[in-house]
Amino acid sequence: MLFKEKTLLELVTRYNVPGPRYTSYPTALQFTDQFDDHLLKEHLVKRSANARSVSLYFHIPFCFSLCWYCGCTKIITRDQDRGDVYLDYLEKEAGLVSNSLHPDSDVKQIHFGGGTPTFLTPVQLIRLGSLIRRNFRVHEDVEFSVEIDPRRCTEDHIKALSDIGVNRASLGVQDTNEQVQKAIHRIQPFEQTSNVTALLRKHGIEDINFDLIYGLPLQTAETFARSIEDVTALDPDRFAIYSYAHIPSIMPAQKLLNEDQFPTTEEKLKMLVYSIDKLPEYGYRYIGMDHFAKIDDELSRALDEGSLQRNFQGYSTRAELEMIALGMSGISQGDNLYYQNEKDIGRYYEALDKGELPVHKVLQLTDEDRLRRKVIMQIMCRGEMNYSGFLRETGVDFREKFSTELERMKALEIDGLVEQFIGGFRITDSGRLFLRNVSMLFDGYIGERQHKTAYSKTV
Ligand code: SF4
Repeated sequence: MLFKEKTLLELVTRYNVPGPRYTSYPTALQFTDQFDDHLLKEHLVKRSANARSVSLYFHIPFCFSLCWYCGCTKIITRDQDRGDVYLDYLEKEAGLVSNSLHPDSDVKQIHFGGGTPTFLTPVQLIRLGSLIRRNFRVHEDVEFSVEIDPRRCTEDHIKALSDIGVNRASLGVQDTNEQVQKAIHRIQPFEQTSNVTALLRKHGIEDINFDLIYGLPLQTAETFARSIEDVTALDPDRFAIYSYAHIPSIMPAQKLLNEDQFPTTEEKLKMLVYSIDKLPEYGYRYIGMDHFAKIDDELSRALDEGSLQRNFQGYSTRAELEMIALGMSGISQGDNLYYQNEKDIGRYYEALDKGELPVHKVLQLTDEDRLRRKVIMQIMCRGEMNYSGFLRETGVDFREKFSTELERMKALEIDGLVEQFIGGFRITDSGRLFLRNVSMLFDGYIGERQHKTAYSKTV
């Protein structure tokens, strides 16, 4: 990697500040529960007026046991009957959502996230698949992905997933070292990961992602390098390698981790640099924040074609789809309105019992939000900005509108993270590690106090 005079460590020390991951802009912090019902109604009426292609997200909140690093919205339980009750409510919600779509709308992307989708039994998964097909028109080329916890996934689960049309699986691995696994309360022998990967392929689910986390207790550059070696041997198509975000004030489970065991910033950085340097040797390309994909993977092609997008699941293809989330806490993203379902399961059920969509918070985007979103998504997904293209698409003169931001960008340019040229700017190879920092220059809410306390550090 190329860094001008300053070492990577100096840069990280300077730029490692709390900041959003920009899975959306504005971020969920701007959502409010004080909203006029008309806003949502208007959005739904507009949505139903024309056929559109949508992406459906289903949140399955249950997990059998608590991983101490977890930042997800989940419910820890061993009672699988709760899955049946939850499906009853997903069915009600799917009916309401389907009524809010034009009958010719089709579903081009489906994702099961959690929690643990494979908390559901194989029979319950088949039921979920059939409720989706009863309520929505699923396109024959649908990208249908599911998050898998290899500790809770039998061959029958995989057969059920394959039967309902799943074609992509994301396996939570985090780290293969036994001591690290003990420290985070997630014991997952590598054999389990390897068996589940083989079974997925055996049943035709061939697009495989692995999720790893660096910055966990007891991890060192050596143990993490070993984890990378272990998982590359299984030849996944993509990796997501996340920096562990320690925010125990917001994620209380994290208080269980022993803070004395965290790696130093320098050690953590070595893990990141190792991933970025090593994975290309195995044929993976750095897509952007946390994500790597094989050269011929759809994500790589989307990067080249400019159709890469970010949504609440990270990087994704198919930028044109309207995202609709079902299940407690799910976040839906329309062009002008974002909204989030109830995070409390009782209130989520209560709303559906009344025949209402269980929406708890919304955010109506202003023109200014949409303009800034365009800039931030372009930085996160393409790593460059072309002023004449921006003018063509928005009618706005970039240099005039963002003159203050461009002035502030000069400091990042001196550090070698960005290159400004006459018609625009681009993120350098080194700058791609700091995409969040570059994006933050254009975030209209970044000065607000809540941003400083609610986000993880950017590196
Ligand atoms: S990390 Fe995944 S499996 Fe573990 S508690 Fe969180 S949602 Fe559940």
